[in-house]
This record gives sequence, C-alpha cells and structure tokens, in this order.
Amino acid sequence: MINFSKYADGLAPVIIQDAATQQVLMLGFMNAEALAKTKAEGRVTFYSRSKQRLWTKGETSNNFLLVKEILEDCDADTLLIRAAPQGPTCHTGTASCFGTANDTFSLQALEQVIRDRKNNPTEKSYTASLFAKGINKIAQKVGEEAVEIVIEAKDDNKELFLGEAADLMFHYLVLLQAKGFQLGDVLEVLEARHKK
Ligand code: AMP
Ligand code: ZN
Ligand code: ZN
Ligand code: ZN
Repeated sequence: MINFSKYADGLAPVIIQDAATQQVLMLGFMNAEALAKTKAEGRVTFYSRSKQRLWTKGETSNNFLLVKEILEDCDADTLLIRAAPQGPTCHTGTASCFGTANDTFSLQALEQVIRDRKNNPTEKSYTASLFAKGINKIAQKVGEEAVEIVIEAKDDNKELFLGEAADLMFHYLVLLQAKGFQLGDVLEVLEARHKK
C-alpha cells in the first residue's frame, strides 16, 4: 500500500515505463483517487498539478497508457507502472518525455519497427519486401543466414561473424512476425523451461 500521507500534498511520484521496450516514458503524480481509478480502468490516470484535477493520460490525444504492472518501491512512497503506450507519451510527439536521447535500442524496439513494416509497408523497406514474399521465403532466408553464421564461426573474422549473427537475429524476428508471433511468446517458452 502506497503511503500517500508521506507527502504534504498527498501526491506520490509515478514512473511510467514501456513494458515492452523498458524505456522510461514519463514521470507523473498520483493521489489515492488517481491510483484507484488507474487500477479500476486499467489505464493510467494521474493527478495533474497544473490542471489541479485527475488527468487520464490520453484523454484528448487517445494516447492512453494501458497498465501492465504496478510496482511499489522499497519504502512504499513511489510507484513504477509498466504500461503499453497507445501512441507517443509526450505531447511533443516523442515516445518518451525524456526525448530521443532516451530511445533505448533493444530487440523489442527492433521488433516494433518490424511489426510496423509488416502493418504499414513502404516501397523502399527491405523488411516490407520480405513480408511480401511470404513465410516460406522468410524461413528460407533464416536457413541461409544460419548457414552463413556456421561458416563464419569456423573463421576468426570478428566483423563477419557478428554481421552474420545480426543477419540471423533480424531474419529470425521477421519470421516470428510473419508467423504472427513475437519475442514475448518465445520468452514465455524459455521462462517455463527455466522454472523447471
Ligand atoms: P493527453 O492526456 O495525451 O490527451 O494530453 C492532454 C494534455 O495534457 C496535453 O495537451 C498536454 O498539455 C498535457 N500532456 C500530455 N502528455 C503529457 C506528458 N507526457 N507530460 C506532461 N503533460 C502532458
Ligand atoms: Zn521510496
Ligand atoms: Zn512530455
Ligand atoms: Zn548473412
């Protein structure tokens, strides 16, 4: 239970993190009422100090923050909310209020780009051209890249080996998307094995 009375104004700081990419998106404040509403609706509602009222993030922009997980810190005076943003969190249009300097590159971030190329194909995109060729071609590409990394593994050329490792990982992510899966699905399988 968060101890709101620790703060004279009853407002506890809330860190918002993208549950998929781990990127820190913004910092806001909540009173008990805002937290209750957030839990009830599954969307983040802050108490806005400038508006002096409850503020559901996305109420005008529709860029809601869907709650995945709510965590309290060690002494129960700060919240960490892991969320799925429905659009850019910052009103300036960037994903994070901390700007693009805070753009963390991760497999999940790359996966989001790949998913976007699948859903909104553009002519120049190599990734979109892979999706256009279909699952069999993509799977074949993964096989080719796997052979290429096997060949480079025999050698001592660091650059060539890492290049093929990247090729394999990229095409593997494309294949997952083409099959309608994502990294999280694979991680679930690995996690279940890990727990055994
Ligand atoms: P929204 O909640 O996204 O519909 O935005 C409504 C208004 O809240 C905007 O016009 C901004 O004034 C403010 N706002 C939106 N997002 C943020 C943010 N991440 N940090 C601070 N203020 C914001
Ligand atoms: Zn604390
Ligand atoms: Zn902002
Ligand atoms: Zn290759």
